[in-house]
Amino acid sequence: MKSDSLNILILDDDEGDRRQVRRALKQSGLQCECTETANVQQALEACETCAFDCAVVDYRIPGQDGLFGISVLNARLPYMAIVMSTGQGDETIAAEAMKRGASDYIPKSLITPDSILRSVTNAIEKATLRRQVERQREELKNFARVLAHDLKAPIQSVRGFARAIEENLSRGNLKKTGEYCLLVARGVERMGALIDALHGYLTAENPVAFEDLDMGQVTRDTLANLEHIIRERGARVTFGELPAVSGHGPLLTQLLQNLIANGIKYCKSAAPCVHVAATQRNGATPRDGAAPRNVDGWLFTVQDNGIGIPEKDSLEVFEPFKRLHGIGEYEGTGLGLATCKKIVERHKGRIWCESKGGHGTTFFFTLPPAQGAALPKSTVESASGAS
Ligand code: ADP
Repeated sequence: MKSDSLNILILDDDEGDRRQVRRALKQSGLQCECTETANVQQALEACETCAFDCAVVDYRIPGQDGLFGISVLNARLPYMAIVMSTGQGDETIAAEAMKRGASDYIPKSLITPDSILRSVTNAIEKATLRRQVERQREELKNFARVLAHDLKAPIQSVRGFARAIEENLSRGNLKKTGEYCLLVARGVERMGALIDALHGYLTAENPVAFEDLDMGQVTRDTLANLEHIIRERGARVTFGELPAVSGHGPLLTQLLQNLIANGIKYCKSAAPCVHVAATQRNGATPRDGAAPRNVDGWLFTVQDNGIGIPEKDSLEVFEPFKRLHGIGEYEGTGLGLATCKKIVERHKGRIWCESKGGHGTTFFFTLPPAQGAALPKSTVESASGAS
């Protein structure tokens, strides 16, 4: 079966009617493979072996009406699009079918190549949208749960330290009071960092205009923002010849900033090294096997000599609030890589990482090429805390 063709299930006890649907689909020009079934049991068996994109279900199936068929198919494959084919005057039934999970209906007497194409496409679009909404709702639920937990932790510790300050003040213990004041300040700083990271994560979704950008310049802007931590850690950040891409400058600066800062932070070496490079995409794909969507774009790498990321965590680190280390070990909010993922996806690209047994990590991401005339390419440069 061709991967770009749709799988359509036809459920109708009448062979002539099944043939009519199959013929109309073929004549409509829709690239599809049809599987015919005569009853609900056969349809369910077919669903065991094929992930159908859409089912065209007859309302009038002897013994089991089509509404039953829709309920059963919808329970088994909630995101499969379903079109109910009805007789004349079955509008009430059609309304009931929609309630039970059908995305569209079509009177049998009006089945033509055009009308079936419209119904099937419309039903698949609705089912895809339903799946997206469901996934977003699930993400939001998780997000709210973890956010509440992560915000509560510093609030609780600040509350505890404030109480300790009160007690120590009343006992006149100024030394202890001073120590607790520092801990309060650290807790408040952490809340501030979490709110900033949250703001960055949420605003990565705002509508923005794309323009042609020299990634060499974006990298220089990023390094200027990171000057303080580069100096503090004595890090060496280098970058090769970087191309022009189509994108949003502030978002791409944020992307590089998060990746380079992590490369410096998650490193035990006295001299953290991070290198940014880009090559024209040549079929490199993430570990999950899904191909980047902007196939004719650029593949960027941000490579560090840090502590590495275990292979089992290499997908999960991109989830909001996923941290592999406790606050005591490395400061962080767990939103950096989730923001990177959102930014790359805004540019219709993919991001993933690879790491070899604790010897550094390489982050890969793809970006679309510049639309207009080529911008000047940057020369090889480096920024070093030692210089
Ligand atoms: P954080 O704010 O904790 O740095 P991120 O979303 O940026 O959150 O990263 C998620 C987790 O992935 C981090 O807590 C860390 O455990 C791991 N991680 C991220 N980048 C690196 C890296 N370059 N090297 C090793 N581990 C990393």
